[in-house]
Amino acid sequence: MSNPLAGIPTQESEVRSLDRAHVFHSWSAQAKIDPLPIASAQGSYFTDYEGNRYLDFSSQLVNVNIGYQHPRLIAAIQEYVAKLATIQPAFANDARSEAARLITELAGPSFRSVFFTNGGAEANENAIRMARLHTGRPKVLAAYRSYHGATHGVIGLTGDPRRWGTEPFTVPGIVHFWGPYPYRSAFYSQTPEQETERALQHLRDTIMVEGAGTIAAIILEPVVGTNGVLVPPPGYLAGVRQLCDEHGILLIADEVMAGFGRCGEWFAVHHWDVVPDLITFAKGVNSGYVPLGGVIVSDVVASTFDDRVYPGGLTYQGHPLACASAVASIEIFKDEKILENARFLGTDVIGPELEKIADKHPSVGEVRGLGVFWAVELVKDKTTREPLVPYNASGAAATPMNDFAAACKARGMWPMTHFNRTHVVPPCTTTEAEVREGLAILDEALDVADSFC
Ligand code: PLP
Repeated sequence: MSNPLAGIPTQESEVRSLDRAHVFHSWSAQAKIDPLPIASAQGSYFTDYEGNRYLDFSSQLVNVNIGYQHPRLIAAIQEYVAKLATIQPAFANDARSEAARLITELAGPSFRSVFFTNGGAEANENAIRMARLHTGRPKVLAAYRSYHGATHGVIGLTGDPRRWGTEPFTVPGIVHFWGPYPYRSAFYSQTPEQETERALQHLRDTIMVEGAGTIAAIILEPVVGTNGVLVPPPGYLAGVRQLCDEHGILLIADEVMAGFGRCGEWFAVHHWDVVPDLITFAKGVNSGYVPLGGVIVSDVVASTFDDRVYPGGLTYQGHPLACASAVASIEIFKDEKILENARFLGTDVIGPELEKIADKHPSVGEVRGLGVFWAVELVKDKTTREPLVPYNASGAAATPMNDFAAACKARGMWPMTHFNRTHVVPPCTTTEAEVREGLAILDEALDVADSFC
């Protein structure tokens, strides 16, 4: 019998030319891109066909929390696929049941069940549908400077320019508000405490003018991800929870990026002891070894659908292989103390080293973050805080950022850049020595950014 994979190209040139001919890429003008073909990956590194090895300071799309080719996770997936490669969601399945039990337990005692999806956008789609049906109210409030996914409904929730290209064709009933961002306060605040107070007042006013009785949910990223790793100032999340309680509004925490170890906890909200009504997750739940996401549903919301049909489903939701990999990933995280590693890297290595880097470089306006979730904000001038590149519609990097990224890559580190920021988001399993290696490269590459100040 012939090997059914024999047709997969082995030469870089062939991979590249087939990609250009037949793969329609996301977020790209198809004729203007030339993606780097990747040959292999291991731990915190991936390697191209020329043998160049890159320390991955992006964790791909901030999802490879467990690192590449984790041997125990690979073995678990191989074991499970040999047993049951697929089963549709209307049957019960051992891996799915256990994944749902574990994830619900990690979320906390007020949660009952998990509605599985294939990724983060679908999770948010279903969370807002559940909230609308549960409350009987139409509107959803979402923050500017947020990303909630790119499917038809949730691209409208997304508060950054990635939404623009689809407007005005997104779904109705979404209202945006400003969240806290002390470094570039929309409220002219001078302190984080003032930022909390003013951001909450703004949200209260938004609820008032929209009409509390029309609002089903407030969705937010507890730590804003691609829009700059914005850690909420003290009291903000608790204040939002309180406003929701006052007005019968549900709180949806989008933990797609912040959850499963990225912030050094299972869920970012655990840092602030805030309990949402719905939590959405994807990415780090199994590091994307098999696509998986979901909505963790509180007992209160789940009970709405005890005797009422939930109108929604997906052929591949709760896919047994994806769920088996989630079970294995969670067990590996516990066994190998990966949350502890993420916390240690944040408090003892990345945080202090980035502070030193900020002091040295005129282009570094602010560093912020926690766990293995950090942003370095680049400016033309530390005093005026003028961003190194302007906020633009396409999200495409402008010259200084491209030059900075090229300098990182030439030295063997793959950065994650977005507008005027570079994010430091390696896998949660990265060692201290590897993180120091990447930070040393970042430090050198910032000389390029400094030359634009
Ligand atoms: N929510 C957040 C906070 C995200 O960061 C992302 C993806 O980056 C999504 C939702 C969308 O997830 P997906 O790309 O799996 O649909």
